[in-house]
Amino acid sequence: MLLLLTAVFVPYLVLAALSLRMIRQERQLETRRAVEDRQRRLTLAGQQLLSLLQNFKLRQLAQLPPRSDRTTPGPPVDKCIAFVGLVREGRLRLPWDDDPGVRLFRGLVTEARFASQLGQAGAQQRAARYDQAAAIYNRVIEAARHPAQQAYARLLLAQGLEKAGRKPESRRQYERVLELPLEHVDEYGVPLAFYAAPHFLGDDLRRQGILRTIRMAAEREGRLSPAALYQARDLARTLKVSELESRFTEQIRDREQAEALQADFARLVPVRPAREPLWSAYGQPVWLISVADAWVLAVRAGEALRALDSTVRLAGHGEGDSLGESLPGLSVALPATVELPANYRRTLLISALTLTLTLTLLAAYLLWRDVRRDMELAEMRSQFVSSVSHELKTPLTTVRMFTETMRLDEEMDRQTQCEYLDTILSESERLGRLVDNVLDFAKIEQGARIYHRQPVRLEEVVEESARVIGYPLKQSGFTLDLAVERTLPPIEADRDALLQAILNLMTNAMKYSDKSRRIGLELRHEGDDALIAVTDYGIGIAPEEQARIFDRFYRAPASQSQYIPGAGLGLTLVAHIAKAHGGDVAVRSSPGAGSTFTIRLPIGAE
Ligand code: ADP
Repeated sequence: MLLLLTAVFVPYLVLAALSLRMIRQERQLETRRAVEDRQRRLTLAGQQLLSLLQNFKLRQLAQLPPRSDRTTPGPPVDKCIAFVGLVREGRLRLPWDDDPGVRLFRGLVTEARFASQLGQAGAQQRAARYDQAAAIYNRVIEAARHPAQQAYARLLLAQGLEKAGRKPESRRQYERVLELPLEHVDEYGVPLAFYAAPHFLGDDLRRQGILRTIRMAAEREGRLSPAALYQARDLARTLKVSELESRFTEQIRDREQAEALQADFARLVPVRPAREPLWSAYGQPVWLISVADAWVLAVRAGEALRALDSTVRLAGHGEGDSLGESLPGLSVALPATVELPANYRRTLLISALTLTLTLTLLAAYLLWRDVRRDMELAEMRSQFVSSVSHELKTPLTTVRMFTETMRLDEEMDRQTQCEYLDTILSESERLGRLVDNVLDFAKIEQGARIYHRQPVRLEEVVEESARVIGYPLKQSGFTLDLAVERTLPPIEADRDALLQAILNLMTNAMKYSDKSRRIGLELRHEGDDALIAVTDYGIGIAPEEQARIFDRFYRAPASQSQYIPGAGLGLTLVAHIAKAHGGDVAVRSSPGAGSTFTIRLPIGAE
């Protein structure tokens, strides 16, 4: 058995250990694969982003005016670009810093004649001489050589008229300014039309015009000055166009970030290593900044990644992964991907291993069951030999005793001789039948035992068994209390089998009687059952043993310790025979007081 366990469990444990190792290796491989995949995706995203940025740079470069005339950098070539700035004397110039409109305006309003006339008009106005002031303004407007000069004078006129309480005239002047294109800006870069706009917000007709104007302003992305954006946002807010308002808010945030960058610029530039291409991350939302050949390009990193349709997203500051040395400071996050094939493979592997291990265990169990059966069979065979001799001993003894008695007693009368010879004859016949029965035990084991039934009078069977056992009983000094009820009808039964069952009980009663020399044999009926009871007053059977004594080869420890011979087969046969006749056998016993075995057979059931 130990060999079997070793033979099965050692390979099993080896297989289990190998499986575990394989699963662990597979998991490690998977982790490594995931890391490599992640790295690959990051590198790819980095390369894609860099090439997009370089593309912006080249296209933007193509837009730049020649170096000699570089006052404005030209409009951004892509929506992702936050601004294009110029570097002059180590300072970053933002697009709206060099608005040509601003420069033009400054030139126009400082023209000597224009400025002096406005000065006069202003003085009249301060002295509350509104008519005179208006007359000067009107003259200036007529003489103005540029629409911006006209508009500026009109604005001042309109303000004066308003103060004078001449609302309709003032309004007419504002109306003219309102029609002015957005290019005409003041020294802060604010379109002059924006100053007129607030006066018409209550006018439904004009509102639409104003809305169109600020919408156009929103489209001129990157060109409006911060001051102009603040005014445009106020207008959008008053007009309750939240979409425009948030666009301006965004642009204002861009301007603020650009101005912060402008302030930090001197600090940023020297840390830039010479290696190209290099895009440093700056601010929040993150911009990628490239400083090249006296101009600066700022690209919105989040939008550029979205434009690439990349799986990579911007991460918060200090977390996430880097996209490489060319993009310092940029933190990105990779969304976790579902590694389906690897998981699938692992599940398959685990299932296969579980199946193999289960099959091994099952095979081991079947093998163990077979071996156990073989061992039981071997034990049974050895028990069988002794049980056969046990079964044959009683009739053989009887035959021998009668024969010996007859030989010794030469003067035996004829009647006794006949009686003895009858007994010897019936005993030898029974011996033959017993041999058959014992051999039938094998058939019982196979479930192929056949009983030959015929009408049997039970009192005859009981009396015959008493007669057969009578001599050995007398020899051992036993008294038999025989009580036979003679009114029972015959039953369909195998006479020899019943006889064998009763004789087995009687033999046991003799064997286990200890010092007692009384045995009871009774036939009676109880309801529809016939009961054959064999009683002794011997060693008895412990309650916990009583259920097991009918098992084949089972012998109670008490009988074994007292060296009472037996094979543990007698009661097995009794139980089988009783059951085959539709009845059963029961025991009532207490240790030291004796036992009663009762065979119950149904009357007329067969
Ligand atoms: P055997 O008597 O050959 O051992 P049996 O099958 O006839 O086998 O009986 C099984 C066991 O039951 C016996 O070994 C014995 O321990 C117990 N037994 C049977 N009959 C009696 C009895 N009349 N009194 C006490 N014990 C008994």
